[in-house]
Amino acid sequence: AQSALAAAEKAADLNAFLHIDTELTLAQARAADALLAAGQGGPLTGLPIAHKDVFVTQGWRTTASSKMLGQYVSPFDATVVDKLQKAGAVSVGKLNCDEFAMGSGNEFSAFGPARNPWDATRVPGGSSGGSAAAVAAGLVMASTGTDTGGSVRQPAALCGVSGIKPTYGTVSRYGMIAYGSSLDQAGPLARHAQDLVELLDCISGFDERDSTSLENCKGTPNQPGRIRADFEAALASHPAGKPMQGLRIGVPTEFFSAGLSNDVAQAVEAALREFEALGATRVSISLPRTELSIPAYYVIAPAEASSNLSRYDGVRYGHRTHSYGDLADMTSRSRAEGFGPEVKRRILVGTYMLCHGYYDAYYLQAQRIRRLIADDFQRVFNADCDVIMGPVTPTPAKLIGANQDDPTADWLADIYTLAPSLAGLPAMSIPCGFSQDAKPLPIGLHLIGNYFSEGHLLATAHRFQ
Ligand code: GLN
Repeated sequence: AQSALAAAEKAADLNAFLHIDTELTLAQARAADALLAAGQGGPLTGLPIAHKDVFVTQGWRTTASSKMLGQYVSPFDATVVDKLQKAGAVSVGKLNCDEFAMGSGNEFSAFGPARNPWDATRVPGGSSGGSAAAVAAGLVMASTGTDTGGSVRQPAALCGVSGIKPTYGTVSRYGMIAYGSSLDQAGPLARHAQDLVELLDCISGFDERDSTSLENCKGTPNQPGRIRADFEAALASHPAGKPMQGLRIGVPTEFFSAGLSNDVAQAVEAALREFEALGATRVSISLPRTELSIPAYYVIAPAEASSNLSRYDGVRYGHRTHSYGDLADMTSRSRAEGFGPEVKRRILVGTYMLCHGYYDAYYLQAQRIRRLIADDFQRVFNADCDVIMGPVTPTPAKLIGANQDDPTADWLADIYTLAPSLAGLPAMSIPCGFSQDAKPLPIGLHLIGNYFSEGHLLATAHRFQ
């Protein structure tokens, strides 16, 4: 824990950490030592980790990278935080992200951008940018992130680490600051897929404090042990010589269309060939509504966000302005001061979509498309393939500030990650190569599985790594 704290301090330029509290960390390290001394330690005991600053934590501030929550300290721990702490993991602090998890580059943080450890002029991805940067720079062994439309997978890809978003409902959202509640899922990031197994297994499980938490995963109780058991069973079921024998990999033609950079296309192609060499077969599939995932997501997520963020009124929650007239003026000034530009944009879009008269035309229509997107996945999983693979991002990490004048350019780059989120499917990113740049940039491979196939996805990724 001490060396992790020292490393975090030394790497301050990355701006990966927002809050560090040596005393709190050392107290957790002592608790981990006590667990070990009592012979009650597990695989995560003593592991230095850190949490995205949207998980509420007792002691550390929780800001969601927003001025709105600049001084907020929660009276309780998020379920994810609590579970990891009980397993003996030691938190080194809270990690930078896009404000309220809205963004794809960690540029929309009220506390400045986090930087990519491979090239500090570039973004680490977002919104869990600090989570990916901290693992990639070796500051912590693992971190927590949240993924609403790609925010675990995309930064993992751009920083060359592994990250998984489980089936919606696997991990409790209790104490996770809400963005788009029907999409938000927590997921871990670490170097290798194998490291993710224990982490995801630990944080998974039914939680009565989250109404969308699942009690059952296709007949198996949603509780720790399930993902590890599935992972081990999947590993054991394959011969050593041809470890991918029988695996049918669906490769969507829509994932290799215009906009995909050569670097990414080549790295993904090389990875697919490697899977074939290990015995897998490649099946060309079609996910015809891939492009529609962008408008559908950017209606649904902002609509839910506008509702979730209405609680920050300067009375019950959030920053309160210093001088104001009446109550309405106070709320409006507080929100104008507290929220950053991207959050305001989403609130405006979302509020518009939910207006009487537009609700049917936009929100309901987006929900219909969401259903069709989910059906498309079921069609290919029923008939063609066991897992879907492709790119996570169209390009490697962009320069910080590159899309400054065009706020929707980043939205388009979410094209590969949004559909699995809309469908609630598990999906992950693992490193699969580098760009040809003078300073090579990491590239991620996307693995998408059917509901509750986390253990299988992790085993497939592990055999590749
Ligand atoms: N980039 C997407 C957005 O801005 C996804 C963010 C996320 O998954 N939290 O909404």
